[in-house]
Amino acid sequence: MTFKFSTKTVHFQKKVQEKNVSKSQPIYQTSAFSFNDLDDMEDFYRGNKEYLYTRYSNPNTDDLGNGVAQLEGAPKGIATSSGMSAILAGVLAIVNHGDHIIASEDIYGGTYQLFANELKDFGINVSFVAMNNLEEIENAINENTKLLYSESITNPLLRVENLSSLISLAEKHNLKTMVDNTFATPYLIKPYELGADLVVHSATKYIGGHSDVTAGVLVGKESLIAKAKTKVVNLGCNLSPFEGWLACRGLKTLAVRMDRQVKNAQALADFLRGNPSISKVYYPNSVSENGNGAIVSIDLGESCDLNIFFKSLQWVKIVPTLAGVETSVTYPLGTSHRSVPDGIRSKLGITKDLVRISLGIEDAEDIIKAFEEAIEQAKL
Ligand code: PLP
Repeated sequence: MTFKFSTKTVHFQKKVQEKNVSKSQPIYQTSAFSFNDLDDMEDFYRGNKEYLYTRYSNPNTDDLGNGVAQLEGAPKGIATSSGMSAILAGVLAIVNHGDHIIASEDIYGGTYQLFANELKDFGINVSFVAMNNLEEIENAINENTKLLYSESITNPLLRVENLSSLISLAEKHNLKTMVDNTFATPYLIKPYELGADLVVHSATKYIGGHSDVTAGVLVGKESLIAKAKTKVVNLGCNLSPFEGWLACRGLKTLAVRMDRQVKNAQALADFLRGNPSISKVYYPNSVSENGNGAIVSIDLGESCDLNIFFKSLQWVKIVPTLAGVETSVTYPLGTSHRSVPDGIRSKLGITKDLVRISLGIEDAEDIIKAFEEAIEQAKL
C-alpha cells in the first residue's frame, strides 16, 4: 500500500511476532484489542476470544490474578488497581445494601475507613470486634450479617489470626469469610486452603516487592470472583497492563525475597528482645514452617527519644508502606492508623512510641548494627 506522510506515521509496517516466543511476557500496553470483522469481534461475546477492552481484561493483569491464585491454591484470581479496590470488589461480591459485616477491630487503617465511612453511605453496616474472641463475634451476628472479615497477620501488632476457628464459626452461621493475606503472603499462610471464600492482597507490598507498583489481587471461589470481576469492570477498578507486568516480575522472586526477609526479621527480633532499652517487641511465633513473617514492631517506651531514633537510623528510611527489598520503618500512629479512633488505638496498643519495621533483603548484621546504633543515640 502506498500512503501519504501522515498516514505512514500511523500505519508504518509493524512486526507481528507469531513465530518467535519471547522469554519474558510482553507488555500488552493497549487500551483495547482489534478485530478483522464483526464476526471476529462477536467471538469475544461468544466466549471464543479472551480480550476486547483492557478495562474488562488484559493478559498482564490476568497473569497477576492467576499467578497469585495458583500460589494461594485458589481456582481463580483477579488483579485490581490497588489493595483497597480489591477489598471493595471482594466485599461487594458478597454484601448488598442493608447487609452487615463483622470485621476485626485491628484491621489496616485504610480498610477501617472504607468500612466505617464509605460502606455506611451505601447502606452496609460494619461491626468491629476482637476477632480472637469468638463469643464477641457470635454476639455481633444479626440476621443481616453476611461476611466475616479479618487479616491473617494484623497490622501493625502482628497478631496471628486463628483462621480455622473463624472459618468454622462463619460456616456454622452461614457467613462468608474474606481474609487480607498481605502481611503473611501465601509463602507463610494460605487462607483459601483453610476454607476462606475470598483472599485479598495489597500487591503493592510483598507480591510486587519493590515499592514501584500500586496493585491489588483478589482470589477465591470462581462464582465470587466472577461477581467481583463485574464490580471491577463497572467501577473501573482495573489495573494497568504495565503495573500488572511489574507486579508479575516481582511475584517471580516472592519466595527468595520472603526467605531472606523472614530470616532477617527473626534475627532483628531476637536482637531487640535482648536490648533493655526496648520496652516491647512484637514478633509472632510458630506462624508457619517457612518462618514468622518479615515485619517486627517495637514499642520504644519512655527510655528512648522517638525522633532521635528515627533520625539516627541513617539508611533505614521512614516510609508509609512496607515489604520492599529495603529495610524501612513506619510510624503507625502518624500514617496507617492516623484515622482510627483514639479509643480503638489505645485498646489495641498502637501507642505514640510504636514503630513498625519492615525487613528488607540486606545482610542481617548491617540491619542489626543500624538499629543498635540508633537505639544507643536515642537513649534518654
Ligand atoms: N491491606 C493491608 C494489610 C495494607 O497494609 C494495605 C496498605 O497498606 C492495604 C490493604 C491497602 O493496599 P493499597 O495501598 O495497595 O490500596
